[in-house]
Amino acid sequence: MVESEHDVTLEDTDRLHGRSALVDNVKAASALAEAVRSTLGPRGLDKMLVEDGGSTTITNDGVTVLETAKVEHPTARLLISTASAQDRAARDGTTTTVILTSELLQNALELVRSGVHPSIIMNGYQIALAEALDEMERISRIPKDGFEMRAAVATSISGKVDSSVSRHLTELAIEAAEALAGENGGQDLERLRVKRLLIKDGGVLDSEVIHGLVLPKSRMDMASVAESDGGRIAIIDGGMESPKLDFEASIEVTSTDALRGFHERARERMREQVDLLVSLGVDLLIVRDGIAEDATTMLTDAGITAYRRYDREDLERLARITGSVMVRDAKRVKDKDIGTYSSRSECSYSGVKHTHIEGPEGGAVTILIRGSSPSVREEVKRTFDDALGVAHRLSIDSRMLPGGGATQTHLARHLRAFAPSQAGREQLAIEAFAAALEIVPRTLAENSGLDPIDEILELSAAQTESAEEGAWIGMDVASGNKVRMDKVGVFDPLFVAHHALAGATEAANSVLRIDDVLWAKQDAQTPDWQSEMEDQD
Ligand code: ADP
Ligand code: MG
Repeated sequence: MVESEHDVTLEDTDRLHGRSALVDNVKAASALAEAVRSTLGPRGLDKMLVEDGGSTTITNDGVTVLETAKVEHPTARLLISTASAQDRAARDGTTTTVILTSELLQNALELVRSGVHPSIIMNGYQIALAEALDEMERISRIPKDGFEMRAAVATSISGKVDSSVSRHLTELAIEAAEALAGENGGQDLERLRVKRLLIKDGGVLDSEVIHGLVLPKSRMDMASVAESDGGRIAIIDGGMESPKLDFEASIEVTSTDALRGFHERARERMREQVDLLVSLGVDLLIVRDGIAEDATTMLTDAGITAYRRYDREDLERLARITGSVMVRDAKRVKDKDIGTYSSRSECSYSGVKHTHIEGPEGGAVTILIRGSSPSVREEVKRTFDDALGVAHRLSIDSRMLPGGGATQTHLARHLRAFAPSQAGREQLAIEAFAAALEIVPRTLAENSGLDPIDEILELSAAQTESAEEGAWIGMDVASGNKVRMDKVGVFDPLFVAHHALAGATEAANSVLRIDDVLWAKQDAQTPDWQSEMEDQD
């Protein structure tokens, strides 16, 4: 009885069980990895993404490609969320994460085909991961000087923009990261405290970091004071508006006196708020929502310059640099909520009035991103975000690894030597894990037009020859030479590599754990994704 009910539910689904579920999932992962692998490395190609509406983005950024793709397969979606998690946590290494996951899965599938149970593979992968992470830490080192630090940031954006732009954005990212040094706020700090402003005129190399906050706002009343070299600031996280019109409409206007009385009371309340600000010595008022027209003249007459309609993130940045406390209700501002600013000026960018406020506390900066077209500015912004994310995280943990496939080649060799120390069939999984790591040097070679097999053999040989130093020898894709990566300034931050490997292993294991997939039957046409996968067969 129970059995047949169960069957009825299953009638609406397509069911893939055991091995075929795994085959299907691995296919989806490979198809996704295939879509981004050509972007890996400084010589990776760009992708042009075309959205439904016809708008296009040109990018070299793996995660941008993935997040824009319309993907239906649950495994592919899992990989995309792994890449997004990598992007959030490390700001770099997203393409690496996806291709590693797919390679771990393909190698696992081969083992399953030769009779190894998925649970053994998962176990072996975990052991290999722990060993690889330890070894990564062991070979990592901190930068010797500012040059190496810059090189690490520049490596993270190489290939996304040309080299003069990459140098410029690296400088800006380091300058912005230094302004945030010592601040609390964790990984989100660079998002919260750095205002990105896209400005129409100028070229990319005119992009700049400005200390303090620049916003495309002009003061509410042109009659109020335009500039100031310091004063007291109040920030209202709400509005200073009169009661609304719809309220007005709901009172029956039986006498004009009643209406006049209502307006007078509103003005009176506004007057009290302005008086309170004056008594606290405020000369700059920033309000999240609106400010009633009535209050405009009152404020100007009282010597207060007011700005309205700031979004919350900008209010928070402003509060940070001026040491103010945001207050919801203008009637309740206290002396301790008032902050100080050290300068305020108005300037104009591409014909739009902007206000620049600087505070004595530092802790927030603005980056003006310039570029000739909206798509250039967007790509520069994304690239700057990556550079800043990496620069900021490096200021917390500066340990670096060699790039150019050096780390993965070394880890593969290390794991192969380590595997025999482990029990039984797990050894096979550790070897499969080691082989999967080589997808990174292989893809870097392919994307540079080099022969992947020769490159991996040469690289591994070069590493073995120079013993202790060997781990730092990688592939310089510009010349194809096997050289010490610190000599050519190709570094990968440890946190990026660590997170990528851990994320990829976790994603692969969670796919291996699935042995039954139920697809809800779709009435509409088969999703594009499935037919794409069938094409690949
Ligand atoms: P991801 O999204 O994974 O960060 P990228 O396209 O940024 O992908 O490529 C990163 C890889 O490119 C890293 O393995 C890094 O070491 C390598 N790489 C970057 N610059 C160079 C270079 N000049 N020579 C060799 N490899 C490089
Ligand atoms: Mg990168």
